Amino acid sequence: MKKIEVAILGATGTVGQKLVALLESHPWFSIAELVASERSAGGPYDKVCHWRENIPLSPSVAALKVKNTDSPLNSLLLFSGLDSSVAGPLEERYAHQGHVVISNSKNHRMDSDVPLVIPEINASHLVLARSQPYRGAIITNANCSSIFLTMALAPLHQALQVKKVMVTTMQAISGAGYPGVPSLDILGNVIPHIAGEEEKIAQEPLKILGTLDGKSISPANFPISVQCNRVPVLDGHTESISIAFAHHTSAAQVKELLQGFRGEIAEMKLPSAPAAPLIVLEDINRPQSRDVHRAQGMSAIVGRIRACPVLDVRLVVLGHNTIRGAAGAAILNAELFHQLGMLDEYRL
Ligand code: NAP
Repeated sequence: MKKIEVAILGATGTVGQKLVALLESHPWFSIAELVASERSAGGPYDKVCHWRENIPLSPSVAALKVKNTDSPLNSLLLFSGLDSSVAGPLEERYAHQGHVVISNSKNHRMDSDVPLVIPEINASHLVLARSQPYRGAIITNANCSSIFLTMALAPLHQALQVKKVMVTTMQAISGAGYPGVPSLDILGNVIPHIAGEEEKIAQEPLKILGTLDGKSISPANFPISVQCNRVPVLDGHTESISIAFAHHTSAAQVKELLQGFRGEIAEMKLPSAPAAPLIVLEDINRPQSRDVHRAQGMSAIVGRIRACPVLDVRLVVLGHNTIRGAAGAAILNAELFHQLGMLDEYRL
C-alpha cells in the first residue's frame, strides 16, 4: 500500500516531536512536510529542532526543510501540535484551503461542528466534520487529562450513569511544552495551578460522552469538580478520581466493567489502537508514573479501585500525556478517519 504523505504543524515542539517519533515508522502515513514558527523555518529539521525524543531521527526526516505557516502545503492530512496562542486561526485557514487538520490544540475542541474524539468511545461523532464550513475539516482530540478521565468514565457511564465526579490531577512537566516550567520552580515542588486546565477537564468529557443528535452533540449531564497540580514527573499524568452513580454498584462491578472495556473500534485493527484501552493493575501501590510506557503509552492504566465513603467508588488513572494524551491520540483519530473512508471525501 502506498503511504499517505502527511505534514506536521508545530513539528519542533513537544507534541510535534512525539508526532515525528511515532510517524517515523507508521505503516500508513509518511512524513513529507514539517512546519514551525519563523524562529525555526528555513533550516533542515535536525538543525533547527532541539530533538528530545529517545530515538534517532531518520536521515530523510532530519534533512526535511522546515516550512513556515505561509508556505503552501501539498499534504491533505495535517497533524497539528501548534501552540494554542496561534492554532485557532491557522488551523481554520488550513481547513479552508482543503486540508484535514487533526489537532491537539484546545482552540476548536468545543466548536459545535468539530468532533472531539476518543475512537473507542465516540467514533460516530466524526460525522460532525461534514457540517463544517471548510473545504477540508478540523478533527480534535481532548486535553490529555480529559482523555484519561473520559476513558475511565466511559464504560461506567454507559452501564451505571455517572452522577458526579471529583478528580485531582498530578500532571507531568512535559505537559507544559518546551521549555515548560522552569526547573527551579518544579524540582522538589508541587504547583497547585495549571492555567485553564480545570475548565477543560470539567467540560470536554461531557462532549465526548454526549450523544449525537442529528448534526449536534447533546452533552452528558453531570458535574466534574477538578483540581490540577503540576508535579516533578517527566511524562505521565496521574488522576485520583471519585465517582457517584445513579445506579447502585460496588468496587468489584466497577473493576469488572473497566477490565472488560474494549470500545467501538475493537475489530478495526487500527495500527495505533492498544489491545485493551484500559489496563487494570491489581497491586495496591499501582499505577505509578513508571507504568506509563505500558502498551506503548496508548492505554490508560487504572488501579486502586475501591469504595468511596463520600461518593460511591474511587480509583486512580495514569496516562502518557504526550502519547495517548496528544500525539498518539491524534494519530489514532487520523487512522479511524481514514479507515472509515472519510479522508477520501476530501481533495486539495
Ligand atoms: P510546545 O512544545 O511549546 O510547541 C509549540 C509548537 O508550536 C512549536 O513547534 C512552535 O514552533 C510552534 N509555534 C509557536 N508559535 C508559532 C507561530 N507563531 N507560528 C507557527 N508555529 C508556532 O507545545 P506542546 O506542548 O508541543 O503543545 C502543542 C499543542 O498541543 C498545544 O496547543 C498544547 O496545548 C497541546 N497539547 C499538549 C500536550 C502535552 O502533553 N505537551 C498534551 C495535549 C495537548 P517553534 O519551535 O518554531 O517556536
